[in-house]
Formats: sequence, C-alpha cells, structure tokens
Amino acid sequence: MPDPTARITSIDTYDVRFPTSRELDGSDAMNPDPDYSAAYLVLRTSAADGHEGHGFTFTIGRGNDVQVAAIDALRGHVVGRSVVELCADPGVLYRDLVGDSQLRWLGPEKGVMHMAIGAVVNAVWDLAAKREGKPLWRLLADAAPAWLVSQVDFRYLTDALTPDEALELLTKGKQGAAERAADLLRRGYPAYTTSPGWLGYSDEKLTRLAEEAVADGFTQIKLKVGADLDDDIRRCRTARAAVGPDIRMAIDANQRWDVAEAVEWTNALAEFDPYWIEEPTSPDDVLGHAAVRRGVHPVKVATGEHVQNRIVFKQLLQAEAVDFLQLDAARVAGVNENLAILLLAAKFGVPVCPHAGGVGLCELVQHLSMFDYVALSGTTEDRVVEFVDHLHEHFLDPVMIDRGHYRAPTEPGFSATMRQSSLDAYRYPDGAFWAADLAAPTPEARA
Ligand SMILES: [Mg+2]
Repeated sequence: MPDPTARITSIDTYDVRFPTSRELDGSDAMNPDPDYSAAYLVLRTSAADGHEGHGFTFTIGRGNDVQVAAIDALRGHVVGRSVVELCADPGVLYRDLVGDSQLRWLGPEKGVMHMAIGAVVNAVWDLAAKREGKPLWRLLADAAPAWLVSQVDFRYLTDALTPDEALELLTKGKQGAAERAADLLRRGYPAYTTSPGWLGYSDEKLTRLAEEAVADGFTQIKLKVGADLDDDIRRCRTARAAVGPDIRMAIDANQRWDVAEAVEWTNALAEFDPYWIEEPTSPDDVLGHAAVRRGVHPVKVATGEHVQNRIVFKQLLQAEAVDFLQLDAARVAGVNENLAILLLAAKFGVPVCPHAGGVGLCELVQHLSMFDYVALSGTTEDRVVEFVDHLHEHFLDPVMIDRGHYRAPTEPGFSATMRQSSLDAYRYPDGAFWAADLAAPTPEARA
C-alpha cells in the first residue's frame, strides 16, 4: 500500500558535461565541436520505497548551466506535491508547469524553459514507472486509452486531432497489443546507426564503421552532410561502396541550408540513393520543408529533433512537409507532449523515427517507440530508432542493441538514471574530470 502522505522533498540538479568534442564524436555541419551534456535532475521523496525520479535534457556544452537554471526555476511547482497524486496523473503537473504565466512569457512552449519542463515531467514518469515496477513503455502500453487521452493537452491541436479521435486511435491500438508486446520482447525494435557518419571522421574511419554496422545487423546508416559538397560526394560514394546497394543510407544536414540550396545539394547527392534528407533547413520553416520535399522526391524528408512543440509538428503534418517525424524525448515537454505528437503522427499516418544519440536520448526514446508499436500505431514498418554508440556506460540501465534492434527494457522506470560515479566525475566545473582538466596548464596537457 503506497504511503498516501509521501511528498516530493527535493529536486537536485546537476550540470553534467562530457568532453566528446576532443574526438569529434557528434560533429556535424552546424555543430563542429559538441561536448555532449545533460542538464540533469533527481526528484527525491519521503516515501519509504526509496524510489527517485531521474530526468534530464540534452545540450552540447556551453549553456548547460542556463538549462540547469531553468530547471531550478521550476522547483517551487514540484516540491511538496503528493507523490501518489503526481504519479497517478502526471498531466496535472505538466499543465501547471506549461501554464506558469510568468515563465510562459519566455516561450511560450519553446526553448530553454520548455526543455526544462520536459526534464522535470520525464523525471515524474520515471518515478511513476519505478513505483509501478514497470519499464515506461509497458506502463504506457498497459494504460487505459481514456487515461492516456487525459494526459494530452489538446490546446491548439483540435483542428487536426480531437480527444475523441485520439481515444479511437488508442482503443484500436489495444487490439493485438499483447501479441505485439511478446514480439517486442522477443525481437526488439528496429534501429539505425549514425555512428559511422560524423563529419569529422576520416574516410578510413567512415568505411570501417560502415562495414561494421552492416556486419552488426543494421540495415540503415546515416551520414552527416552539408559543409562542403565535394566532400559530401566523396563521403557518400565511400559509404555506399562500403555498405552496398541494399542498405538504406540517410543523410543529415543539421539545418545548414536555405530552401533552394537544400534542394540542389540533395539532388547533387541523389546518385548515391540517399534514403532521407534530415533537417535540410530551419526546424521552424514548415513551408520550406514542404518545398524541399517536393523538390527532392524520391528522396524523403525527415525532421523533428529541434521542433519545439506539438503545434509545429501539427503544421509539418498538415503541410505534408515530412515523410518521417523525428520526435525527441527531451526537447518538448516530456512524455505528455510526446503522447500528443505520437497521436498526431498516427492520425496522419506518418512513421515516427525518433532522434537519439547525445547523452541518454537512446535510453529515453526507445520507450516511446516501443509504446507506439505495442499500443498505438501497431507496426514497426518503415520505423527505426536512431542509435549512436556513445556514453551508454554512464547509465544504470543502458540500451542493449542486438542484431540491429533495441532490446526492450525490462527494468522499471524510464532508463534515465545515470551512475553516481559519472555524476561525480563529469559534473561541471567541479567534478573530478573537469577539476583536473581545468587545472591543466595548457590545452595540450588536457585529457
Ligand atoms: Mg539529426
């Protein structure tokens, strides 16, 4: 029997940064030297079970302190809440956070504040799933359709998706869910890998990693493009030669281009049969994406990792601007808003191929796709979750990849919990790694 008097007692925040820029891991046309970072929080409670809610959002270094400050600004909304009530209905807190009228001015529903809300909301879902003793995908898949609908904020969506339509989609999603859950546990969820294709890697490293990806069972890889066309032609040719004609090869420009340039550049790479062009232009440019999509056919268009909220996703779908919707677990306001985005995608029949990588994004987003397969869209056809083989060792329940598939998590929670030793080492600027690094006399002397 859960203690009805248990309260949230604290939110502890951490500025965690990893020095990934030194190996050019994660380098792309827009982000040449990312230090993968997490603005991380722990919800602690007075419950005797000792469970904590862990959550974070992802940044790439400088500004992670700003992101942590935004999480700190939400503390007053959370501390003191009843744990039982919070976990029974995370949508109440989500609406309170989004609805703080003074903080809302900083968005609304976009950017640093919104990502902070996502970190807190995701920590609540982690806590709720741990208290239920279920991995989050299972908690969502087992939930009653009407309750899931109650977790969604339909404000600004009803011209495209009504609560009744959402209920219908989720009710239909229940048919065959038990068989799909069994299939998921047996087979896992399809993944693709971005690890070979970072822009800063040599052709030799690209070839070696692309060949390894195919040998490991992946059927899709992704390459970063957009800095220099001649380089892109050479790298696409190199990668295509390494993987052969049957492996899907996506390309990703990380918002580098204007619309006309996106069309020209993508078409200049068409001979290498790219599967999709990702983030060809600004994530805010809905009509621009639609124009690119018309201009690069039969290459498909994918975007979403920087799409700031459910309303922009709605427009991308309404404008027929994307072939694949790449939601991110930690850019929007957490599980609640991602439920809305999954429902929108299901309504429009557009496959969701989530963004992952960074720090812990694979750990989080696998749960959303697995729920979508088991209890919403009911299919993995044309659906893949991004996989990047970095930094998983810092998590207590890291993702497991098996023959190109994410293995379904079985541990309770949202797979969000980082090891205490990693928090201690990589907390910026006073963790053990950074303290030693910043004390080094020259950049060359650093790790
Ligand atoms: Mg990308």
